[in-house]
Amino acid sequence: MSEIHGLAVHAAGAHLLPYKYDPGELQANEVEIKISHCGVCHSDVHLIDNDWGFSKFPFIPGHEIVGSVVAVGSGVVDRKIGDRVGVGWQADSCGVCEWCRQGDEHLCAKSQPTCVGRNGGYADRIRVNSRFAIPVPEVLESENVAPLLCAGITVYSPLRNHGVRPSSRVGVIGIGGLGHLGIQFAKAFGAEVTAFSTSKDKEAEARRLGAHHFLNTQDTGALKKVAGSFDFLLSTVSADQDWQGYVNALRPKGMLCVVGVPPSPMQIQAFSLLGAQRAISGSPSGSPRDLHEMLDVAARHGVKAITERFAMSKANDAVAKVKKNQVRYRAVLAN
Ligand code: NAP
Ligand code: ZN
Repeated sequence: MSEIHGLAVHAAGAHLLPYKYDPGELQANEVEIKISHCGVCHSDVHLIDNDWGFSKFPFIPGHEIVGSVVAVGSGVVDRKIGDRVGVGWQADSCGVCEWCRQGDEHLCAKSQPTCVGRNGGYADRIRVNSRFAIPVPEVLESENVAPLLCAGITVYSPLRNHGVRPSSRVGVIGIGGLGHLGIQFAKAFGAEVTAFSTSKDKEAEARRLGAHHFLNTQDTGALKKVAGSFDFLLSTVSADQDWQGYVNALRPKGMLCVVGVPPSPMQIQAFSLLGAQRAISGSPSGSPRDLHEMLDVAARHGVKAITERFAMSKANDAVAKVKKNQVRYRAVLAN
C-alpha cells in the first residue's frame, strides 16, 4: 500500500506541517478510508498544545472523519469498498474485555484513540478497525455529518444514557462545536432547552437550533437567577467555570455532566450535592452502538453541524480560529 499524506504537529503548540507515513500491511480487521472531510474538534487543539500531557509527537490530528472505504482487510465482513463511513475519537479496542463484550468499547482499558499514538484525519487516508468505521446514512451530507462523529456523539450519549426525556429541563453550557449539537439533540429528546453562553451574538442561532431560553453567563448574577431550575446540565466548556453556581442551578436529583475539559480541578460543596441528591458525572465520546444510533437519530430529526469549510491545506488557519472562539460552529477540513 502507498504512503498516507497528512499534516502533522511535531512539538507542543507548533504549526502543522506536511507529513507522510507508511501504514504497513492492511490488518485483517482493518478498513482503509479515503477521507473527504475532517472536523476540527477542540480536543485536537488540546492535543496539539499537549494540554493533557499525553500527546505523542509527531502526529496527525483529526478524529471527526468522513470518507469512503477503499480497502478492506481479509476478516472484514460488514464493510465493503465504496461504503461511506465515519470515524470518531476511537479507532480500536481490545474486543474481548467485559466492556467490549457488553457494547461499551469506549470504556475499554485498551481503547485506542484515533490520533493519540496513531495518526488521525487531517490526511488523505486512514486505517481503523472496521467496527469503528460507522456507516453514514445517505441523507446526511459529509461536511455536516463529520462533526457528529465526535462532537455529536459526545453530547448525544449523556443525554441518552442519563434518561433525558420530554419533561426534562436541560441546559447546554458553551455553544461551540459540541454545544450547538447539544441544543439540537436535547430538542430531539423533547426537553425544554436553555443555552448558556458567553457570546451574546449566538442567541438568535441558539433559538433557531431549538433553545427555548438563552442565558448570557457574562451578565451579573445570571446563574443565581436560575438556581434550582434544571434536571440536566451539560458543560461543553474548555475553561474553568463557576461550578458551584451550576450545581446550585440543578433541581433535586439533577445532574451536572461534564464533557468539556477545563484546566483546573472542580471545587464543589458536598452539602450542595447531598441535600438535594444531586450528582456530577462525566462522559467520554460514546460506543459504536451509540454512534450508529446517534447517526440514525440525526438523519431522522435533521440534526446537523453548522460548518465553516477550510481546504485541508489550510488546517493551521482553522486551528487558529477555533482557539479564538471565532468559528460558527464547527470548522471542517475538506480534501
Ligand atoms: P469549541 O467549539 O471551542 O466550543 C467551546 C465553547 O465553550 C465555546 O464556543 C464557548 O461557547 C465556550 N467557551 C470557550 N471559552 C470559554 C471561557 N473562557 N469561558 C466560558 N465559555 C467558554 O470546543 P468543542 O470542540 O465544542 O469542545 C469543547 C470541550 O469539549 C473541549 O474541552 C474538548 O476537548 C472537549 N471534548 C470532550 C469530549 C469528550 O469525549 N468528553 C469530546 C469532544 C470534545 P460560548 O461562546 O457559547 O460561551
Ligand atoms: Zn473531539
